[in-house]
Amino acid sequence: MTSSVSRRRLLILDDDSLIGQTITAIAALAGLETCYTQNPEEFFRAVEEWRPTHIALDLVMPKMDGVQVIQRLALRGCEAAIIITSGVGTRVLDAAGRLAAEHGLNIIGVLAKPFTPARLRQLLLSEVPGPSSFGERGVSQEGALAPAATLSAEELRRAILSGAIVPYFQPKVVCATGALAGFEVLARWGHPTQGLILPTRFIPLAEVSGLIDDLTLYVTDQALRWFAPLCTSGNGAGPGKLSATPGVGMQLAMNISARTLSNTALFDEIRERCSQLGIAAERLSFELTESSAMDDPIASLDLLTRLRMQGFHLALDDFGTGFSSMLQLVRLPFSEIKIDKSFVMTAMQSQESRTVTRFIVDLGRSLGLRCTAEGVEDVQVLAYLQSIGCDLVQGHAIAQPMPGDVAVRWMQQRVWVR
Ligand code: C2E
Ligand code: CA
Ligand code: CA
Repeated sequence: MTSSVSRRRLLILDDDSLIGQTITAIAALAGLETCYTQNPEEFFRAVEEWRPTHIALDLVMPKMDGVQVIQRLALRGCEAAIIITSGVGTRVLDAAGRLAAEHGLNIIGVLAKPFTPARLRQLLLSEVPGPSSFGERGVSQEGALAPAATLSAEELRRAILSGAIVPYFQPKVVCATGALAGFEVLARWGHPTQGLILPTRFIPLAEVSGLIDDLTLYVTDQALRWFAPLCTSGNGAGPGKLSATPGVGMQLAMNISARTLSNTALFDEIRERCSQLGIAAERLSFELTESSAMDDPIASLDLLTRLRMQGFHLALDDFGTGFSSMLQLVRLPFSEIKIDKSFVMTAMQSQESRTVTRFIVDLGRSLGLRCTAEGVEDVQVLAYLQSIGCDLVQGHAIAQPMPGDVAVRWMQQRVWVR
């Protein structure tokens, strides 16, 4: 989405009028139309009516803080290129940048005050990349965009029964060689009127309404049926041939919610389906967030240890975001850690994110765990992860989550390096 300079419109929200006027002057000189306000309500009206292509946002203001503004912009699905400014120090600014990216906003730069006119001009005139939320907001390979509307538990229940919840597959590849290591299964809801709905909107609903286990079982069942012919046809020209490093077969990763960990029968069921389909337990990995394992620590330790003993892999998802990541990592029998995408996505802009990323890769290596970086959106980040010895990568730079048939075509068309 490249806009010519003359069509760029910059909306500025800053409580300091001197800064506001300075940004206005620099942007006007650079050829942008500008609109400056100190008032958050006026700002949101302008977002709706004036439709800025760029936003300069002060992080700390008396009436509303930048975090609240970020949340409201995200709720409205704002796609403008956002520059965050503030005098609060680079660590806080970095954190705000990560937060905004996590909310799916298109952050093009973070400016610590005082900043130079040249730096601001450079940001305003740079090629504007698509929103970092490209995959997050539901613009999938099929291109459907889901508007926000309330979803009811009853609607979700019917969707599960009618097969409207489907698995999408996102490849995980070996960082050093690009060889295929497997796929993560990500649920999507094909809604009759709202288009494709992302899991961040319906998984929490499934959890609170007691539907999560039905959903997990249904999605797992579909995913295993898709996976079975791929992982059992290990010779010949079929996609099964495209497995990762020699000796290590492709793996299928399933996301498991906290609540599901108390349902041992569900895992018995999954094991049963795997054996019916001829899929070895080693080919399946369960991804858990650390909070999942915290709900009932003893029961989860029992269950997870049993699963590992049966051969299933366990990954600790979103590592680095919780309060007790390290504790969970040591306490529970994980075989993989996944670096949270908020660090990976900002690795090139933030020294802090690079430090955390490198630390997790080193930690994984010393604990003998496989380390996956997710949210790899460009080749620079990929090169950085290669340089620090990360094992696996996953992200839009490789491929977005895809429906099963598209994922198979993707495997067949890609030139594989072993
Ligand atoms: P997650 O397990 O952390 O999955 C990774 C998320 O990052 C996915 O979002 C994926 O589409 C997105 N992603 C991958 N690469 C990139 C990238 O390069 N850039 C960006 N911006 N995003 C990228 P998705 O599919 O929206 O899923 C969100 C979360 O919903 C998942 O986070 C997972 O916690 C949950 N979820 C998805 N499917 C299921 C499911 O079947 N069961 C359960 N319990 N949770 C699920
Ligand atoms: Ca996951
Ligand atoms: Ca994750």
